[in-house]
Amino acid sequence: MKTSVQGFPRIGAHRELKFATEAYLSGKADSGELGDAAARIRLESWNTMREHRIDLIPSGDFSLYDRVLDMAFLLGAVPRRYREAGLSAIDTYFAMARGYQGTVDGRRVDLHALPMKKWFTTNYHYIVPEIDDGARIALGGTVTGFAGGALTASVDPVEAYIEAARNGIDTRPSLVGPFTLLKLAACTGKRGPEDLADEVADAYGTLVARLAGAGARAVLLDESALALDLDARDVALFERVSRRALESKPAGVEIHVNVSFGDPRDAYDVLVGLPFDAVGLDFVEGRKSAELVATRGFPKDKTLIAGILNGKNVWKADAERVAATLGALSSKVAGLAIGPSCSLQHVPVTLEGERSLDAALLSRLSFATEKLGELRDIADRASGAKAGRDTAFPGTADAAGSGERESWWPATAETVRLPSRAERREIQRTALPLPPLPSTTIGSFPQTADVRDLRARLRKGEIDKAGYDGAIRSKIAECVAFQEEIGLDVLVHGEFERNDMVEFFGTLLEGFVFTSLGWVQSYGTRCVKPPIIAGDVSRGRPMTVELARWAQTLTAKPVKGMLTGPVTILNWSFPREDIPAARVAFQIARAIREEVLDLERAGIRVIQIDEAALRERLPLRREDWKRDYLDWSIPAFRLTHSAVAPETQVHTHMCYSEFRDIMEDIDAMDADVISFEASRSNLSILAELSRVSFGSAVGPGVYDIHSPRVPSVEEIGEAIRRMTASGLEIWVNPDCGLKTRGETETRQSLRNMMEAVEHARKTVHRG
Ligand code: GLN
Ligand code: ZN
Repeated sequence: MKTSVQGFPRIGAHRELKFATEAYLSGKADSGELGDAAARIRLESWNTMREHRIDLIPSGDFSLYDRVLDMAFLLGAVPRRYREAGLSAIDTYFAMARGYQGTVDGRRVDLHALPMKKWFTTNYHYIVPEIDDGARIALGGTVTGFAGGALTASVDPVEAYIEAARNGIDTRPSLVGPFTLLKLAACTGKRGPEDLADEVADAYGTLVARLAGAGARAVLLDESALALDLDARDVALFERVSRRALESKPAGVEIHVNVSFGDPRDAYDVLVGLPFDAVGLDFVEGRKSAELVATRGFPKDKTLIAGILNGKNVWKADAERVAATLGALSSKVAGLAIGPSCSLQHVPVTLEGERSLDAALLSRLSFATEKLGELRDIADRASGAKAGRDTAFPGTADAAGSGERESWWPATAETVRLPSRAERREIQRTALPLPPLPSTTIGSFPQTADVRDLRARLRKGEIDKAGYDGAIRSKIAECVAFQEEIGLDVLVHGEFERNDMVEFFGTLLEGFVFTSLGWVQSYGTRCVKPPIIAGDVSRGRPMTVELARWAQTLTAKPVKGMLTGPVTILNWSFPREDIPAARVAFQIARAIREEVLDLERAGIRVIQIDEAALRERLPLRREDWKRDYLDWSIPAFRLTHSAVAPETQVHTHMCYSEFRDIMEDIDAMDADVISFEASRSNLSILAELSRVSFGSAVGPGVYDIHSPRVPSVEEIGEAIRRMTASGLEIWVNPDCGLKTRGETETRQSLRNMMEAVEHARKTVHRG
């Protein structure tokens, strides 16, 4: 039984790629040094996979920034403004990834980055390619600028294949497939995906031919877009582009295709009917993968690559579940290979550097490197090379699909806040007098170097806890005074004591474990270190009450208690797999609920429970939304606040405005006030909100905090005017926390916001 890997983490065990890229981008290193660092990471990954005797080792899965961007770049899908900026190939590449400001030949060049989007059901973000009418899609256009350079093998899979071969490693090049590329790209010109299909297919055909010419014996196309909801036109596009790309396939090279993050239920027959030599399916997240194979059959002349190890979580696989899945498949397919459910880039590189985790836990964990060992063991066992069923994979059992109302599911009454929101609104009007168009911020204020430095000094023992707390309190006092000065209505303490909104609570709650080096790429050079939820979650003692109470003593205006919601904490962690996600969410919800009630008891009148990441775990397919996610995530949020008094105002915040399709569910969270990102989408959601008579008061962000730009009083005024015209009950706030912004721009932006609010109150809300 062969073992197959679609992709390996590319940031390096110590985030070497991040540091090398940042050094290059800040001018501290040249492209040669970046190229060398990238080559070292690739070689190390290849060697690791060879040591674990992986049969199908990927090449071309590496990227300096993002693989979708690489493919767009390779095929010449470079929008005109980047093409014409006069930058070198590598600077054009990075300009698309992260924008560019500078001078080229005496001209000022100011380019925005291409947008980023979440990669299927992961927390990884890819660059959205843009195809305009000027682009001529063909292999080898722009990338020739890299030719011979140290960086070529980082972008061009042919060069990567040759590099691996030179090191004695035979690889299977791994490419973002043509259909997925077309599905994810934004076509901004007159030509749509159908018009581009032949050009794109031909470019892939040429690429496969070149890879074969270089010696490759198999090529893997990642067509995970087949896990999305597809209509007949999509399926036809997939079929057309695949057939054409495979038409000119040279003899002696196999083409494999892979679907991760779900199952290809809308295109299964077409998928297995195409002349692919192997088809990889996801048996972890693909709810219907097994059923599709069982009921529709699988061709005898192809190999099925079963994605049986969870490529998105850090636990060892459950041996019994794996055995059962493989047992069922082996009777239905002639050729069977195994692999992870998706590229391993979504888990950390290795457990090797984890010295502080306890042995019992360590024995249950499996990062990318350890998963290679698991694959090898399973394959050896299956082929009889290793006798018996050993106990290599203890513990975790399958959690998938357990949506039953078990004893731990809260009773409906427990998740209902009374009286109704409309009645509460009246009560709060008296209990919490606020002017029309109340203003607030989302919570954090700039985490400037001095704040980060405080935490570093506490860690190194240069200051003691009392000294640290004192310094944090003076930051809070300063922050409260500033908010009073500019006239904000509901104040915040500024979140200076928090490094990260999930990590902060994770370290205070029972059940969370933190790794030393468990980094995962979020996008480009940004990496995150998600906590592991290793045990039952509970709250030992109050976490935020003391500071909140103290901040409230500084002002007569309400200061918001700030908490992270259960769904966001869950979505930004590695949860256990042997208990259902819903159960973990309810456990976290109960802990947060205790904190909410303690804040209320301490005299905090407004409590914000952030659900920044609520939408992230929403399944790809609409028919799975309720049962697999919304049916428990919304009640989990409701559980956190259902017991507060009607006078207490509950806010929530979300980091996206694409909730048109789950509007009712968001309304059902039953918050009194909700703030969200909206400035970049040009407040287009307002009409929709008023159409469904959304029940919470809404604070669509009036300016974009993801940019250092200071918005003018006029533009904020215009946003407020449009908001008030919607007839909704409106709050005025920025679109997210201010943590990543500088001090000066933040103060100016908020002053402008308040000036606009005061003006609007005079003109719109006279009397
Ligand atoms: N309260 C958090 C903050 O202001 C919310 C952050 C977020 O939405 N990502 O930083
Ligand atoms: Zn946000």
